[in-house]
Amino acid sequence: METPVATQRLLAFIDAAPTPYHAVAEARRRLVAAGFVALREEEPWSLAPAGRYLVVRGGSSLVAFVVGDRPPGEAGFRWVGAHTDSPNLRLKPRADHVREGYRQLGVEVYGGVLLHTWLDRDLALAGRLVLADREEPLLLRIQRPVARIPNIAIHLNREVNEKGLVVNRQTHLPPVVGLAGEAGEPGWLKAALAREAGVHPDAILGFDLMLHDAAPSAVGGLDGELIFAPRLDNLASCHAALEALLDAPATAASTRGLVLYDNEEVGSESAEGAQSPFLLDVFERIALATGGGREDLMRARARSLFVSADMAHAVHPAFTDRHEPQHMPRLNAGPVIKVNASLRYATTGVTAARFEALARAADVPVQVFVNRTDLACGTTIGPITAARAGIPTVDVGNPMLSMHSIREMAGAADHGAMIAVLTKHYT
Ligand SMILES: [Zn+2]
Repeated sequence: METPVATQRLLAFIDAAPTPYHAVAEARRRLVAAGFVALREEEPWSLAPAGRYLVVRGGSSLVAFVVGDRPPGEAGFRWVGAHTDSPNLRLKPRADHVREGYRQLGVEVYGGVLLHTWLDRDLALAGRLVLADREEPLLLRIQRPVARIPNIAIHLNREVNEKGLVVNRQTHLPPVVGLAGEAGEPGWLKAALAREAGVHPDAILGFDLMLHDAAPSAVGGLDGELIFAPRLDNLASCHAALEALLDAPATAASTRGLVLYDNEEVGSESAEGAQSPFLLDVFERIALATGGGREDLMRARARSLFVSADMAHAVHPAFTDRHEPQHMPRLNAGPVIKVNASLRYATTGVTAARFEALARAADVPVQVFVNRTDLACGTTIGPITAARAGIPTVDVGNPMLSMHSIREMAGAADHGAMIAVLTKHYT
């Protein structure tokens, strides 16, 4: 199959977004290019009818919205949420050390990393630097493969194929970034970062840095029906929401928007994560700035729908026994509605039916996922948003394999289908 344009744009978005900071910067760049005005939380807001706005919190979460023709109290909010972060390895504050002649970086594990997939990959480094003479942190990206976590040779670990590889987070994960000697003088990491950023080492006051796969995303499969990429969970949903909001009609009764949250992979408990008041703050400020009051905000919430978009588990050909036999999503068979009776997903019969109606209107098939009853279910920002905001919520996502691996895979056709449904949501 020919790779759909939306899927090509997704792969470019993923490659431009090795960290949540870069994902937000890239989303912001595209929104500003389409006429969205950047608001600041610390300034007063005045919003025009049909105005298009965005606001960033913490550099890694973003809300964008288009003001509706009618006040939120009368037409509600139509929203999509996704998360900007993916499981990865992050540098410790004093990361650089030398061991047996190797220069290495101390790393912490962020989220549910499939650890063994990080071995023998060419790793690149990215994140942000806090600089003495800049108000905003500087985004940094070293695109070439500077690091590697070497596997142990099979000759020194003979039973690895029978017993499996157990990766110790403290002792096995520090990547090798070079050899000691002159280059291994104390402070070598700061010196290297300063060189990459073009600043003096003393100007670096702090950093948030993480590793990622240096290889670019790719279209895969004999007929190009697959995509192989890092961070599909959940940059694919961030990108689908972004494309849908950009594709949506310029005017509609409801105020329509998206929220891209950081920190979902570690429980969402941060100043800009889904447990923060970020989205509620924005809803309230929209109600106030469009001439409404507290009651209009309450009315708006009761008239709203929140689509929580996060990736779903496609059936795995070698592990079909891990799936509920009646609910086995397939690649390129359309978006998946995710259901869990314990509300690890926020979907109800009512919100599922609303999403299905949108899919029907977009001429897109949907699938349904329920975990095996004897396996613990994952969760998303959906239940958190539903509980905090009191807004009817549906959990959905496109099917994929290798979730939380350094490199994941999905179907090339599903992305356009998800965008089509979300665009209907915004229409
Ligand atoms: Zn996710």
